[in-house]
Amino acid sequence: MPYCSHCGAQLPDGAPACPQCAATRPGPIVREAAADKPGGGLPVLAFLFPVVGFALWYAWRQPTPLRARSVRRAAVAGAIVGAIAYVVAFVVYLAVIAAAMKKLS
Ligand SMILES: [Zn+2]
Repeated sequence: MPYCSHCGAQLPDGAPACPQCAATRPGPIVREAAADKPGGGLPVLAFLFPVVGFALWYAWRQPTPLRARSVRRAAVAGAIVGAIAYVVAFVVYLAVIAAAMKKLS
């Protein structure tokens, strides 16, 4: 699938102009197509920092949808794990407070 050299939108095969930005005769562009692969270290980054992951997904969802989807999946997983960790930490915190209160009374 070719991509527009002007805006990076996906072009239908043999399109005379870009449907996104109306650039005429976009020509066969290989830009980004080969780079659109899931994986690499970025999903790990997205998992650790879901906000970064969602930002990357938003920025990439047009030029590289496969890579965008892989970082979004990692960001969602990271957000869920982070939320669980937060709840566990909060429960532990409450337990510590409760133990300290019992000691005082
Ligand atoms: Zn275009």
